[in-house]
Amino acid sequence: MPVAARLRAPREGPRHSLAVLGSTGSIGRQTLDVAAGSDDRIEVVALSAGSNLERLCAQARSLRPRAVALEHSTDPIAARASLAAAAPAAEVRVGPGSTAWVARESGADIVLNGVVGAAGLEASLGALERGARLALANKETLVVGGSLVREALARGGGELVPVDSEHSGAFQCLAHRPSGELARLTLTASGGPLREHRDWTCATPAEVLRHPVWSMGRRITVDSALLFNKGLELIEAHVLFEVPWPRLDAVLHREARVHALVTFVDGSTLLQAAPPDMKIPIRLALSWPERWDDPVASLEPRDLAGLEFAPIPAGRYPAFELALVAGRAGGTAPCALNAADEVAVAAFLEGAIPLGQVPEIVRRVVEQHAPERVESLEQLLGVDAWARRAARELGVRA
Ligand code: NDP
Ligand code: MG
Repeated sequence: MPVAARLRAPREGPRHSLAVLGSTGSIGRQTLDVAAGSDDRIEVVALSAGSNLERLCAQARSLRPRAVALEHSTDPIAARASLAAAAPAAEVRVGPGSTAWVARESGADIVLNGVVGAAGLEASLGALERGARLALANKETLVVGGSLVREALARGGGELVPVDSEHSGAFQCLAHRPSGELARLTLTASGGPLREHRDWTCATPAEVLRHPVWSMGRRITVDSALLFNKGLELIEAHVLFEVPWPRLDAVLHREARVHALVTFVDGSTLLQAAPPDMKIPIRLALSWPERWDDPVASLEPRDLAGLEFAPIPAGRYPAFELALVAGRAGGTAPCALNAADEVAVAAFLEGAIPLGQVPEIVRRVVEQHAPERVESLEQLLGVDAWARRAARELGVRA
């Protein structure tokens, strides 16, 4: 059964407890806004962040969670003391593994994973193993560890609701119909800030980070400019909905009103449209199968006039094409692909390499990797570490 179809009946009672992983990031902060506007239907009981101690302390002071965690700190003793002062009743963890600890031990009904990168995988597995709902923004969970997610769902009896806007759209259109009824799933891509750029290979970090539609974290913004993000999203959709590769595609759609188009075998196409606002899929992942009212966001019919959809030009987005090659290869290939990209994008943002070098580094790492069947988290951590080392070497030599 597709991963995204394993949903239980609606929960009894109006209030859900929520753990927010990556609470200091773009998705995390928007999630806290959604929870604050939920008329008490959501209680935030746990927070975790990467390294932004100041912002995490401010969130802990205002929300008073039961658990709070920081993954990276140069001064763990001082960080622990600051967090304990900010939330005196909370259990505090600082150091590697803290995010996964929150997912496993917080007891929250819903774990929203807004961590960036493969670092989010272990926490996702922890939430599913104990039968929680995983509201998943961290697409790397499915890209890197799709088969482990499937096993964790089966063992723990948890449920997974996608937050990524295109997958949220597809999830709503599919409405749990068997994958055999699906003729084609199409995800849309706005094309990002470099769609009209004359020579995208030389674009600067400032140009790339100026996304015309979405305001997101730095890595996903760079990945969107390269359409690498869309490649990751096709892998994510392949795992989530069990759609075979020949029935999956992506189109350029500058207006970013339509997020997914689902064509069924009988000739009908359902599409999901909404303003480009991540709070909409975040809220749905918390409320599903209910829908909670939002007085602000919705589209008028006139907002759908003149929408354009165009094929992704072959050869223009090498990082997108690489992601598809790794996705089709399967096994540990997407893990190596993702890790190489994380390193290459960080090097680009630091000004160490030009943008054009990012797909080149990813390509060379993927070519060096002999994919294996995915057996365990430890194996994936090993591949991830190897690919990071290989990418760093290429980045240094670049
Ligand atoms: P951000 O960079 O804005 O936020 C990332 C969050 O992850 C921060 O809270 C950061 O903490 C935390 N973090 C970083 N490294 C680690 C680590 N090793 N362990 C634990 N936590 C860590 O990213 P976004 O919010 O943009 O994206 C988050 C995820 O959601 C990504 O997978 C992205 O692809 C996906 N997504 C994002 C969308 C968006 O609109 N932003 C849309 C759809 C999907 P700190 O800042 O404290 O270091
Ligand atoms: Mg998306």
